[in-house]
Amino acid sequence: MALPHHDGPGLRHEVRPDVRLDDAPMTPVDCATCGAHVQARKSSWEQTTIQWSTEAVEACFERRTTTARPGPNGAAFLGCTALGQALREAAVSGALPVLDVDPARQRKESV
Ligand SMILES: [Zn+2]
Repeated sequence: MALPHHDGPGLRHEVRPDVRLDDAPMTPVDCATCGAHVQARKSSWEQTTIQWSTEAVEACFERRTTTARPGPNGAAFLGCTALGQALREAAVSGALPVLDVDPARQRKESV
């Protein structure tokens, strides 16, 4: 009944945030200016992931008129100035959870 030993504990891939983010829910955020409704997720204070629906793209004037940088869905574009503001406010108020905050991470790891 000997269990195979792996490389040992503590060798988890903490470096890859994608895995951790996979089960983190997206939070709906509205652009106060154009009413664009996007799903957002903050993996840290500096990094925001935004999922644009077709409606949101059409609703956000700046999003439409800005030539998104090449990439999947033009995901590099964070939205108009107002949306950026809305995202910041949501994060500060706690409506949009910032995942890379120690208490939240520890709570998750200890489960
Ligand atoms: Zn907008």
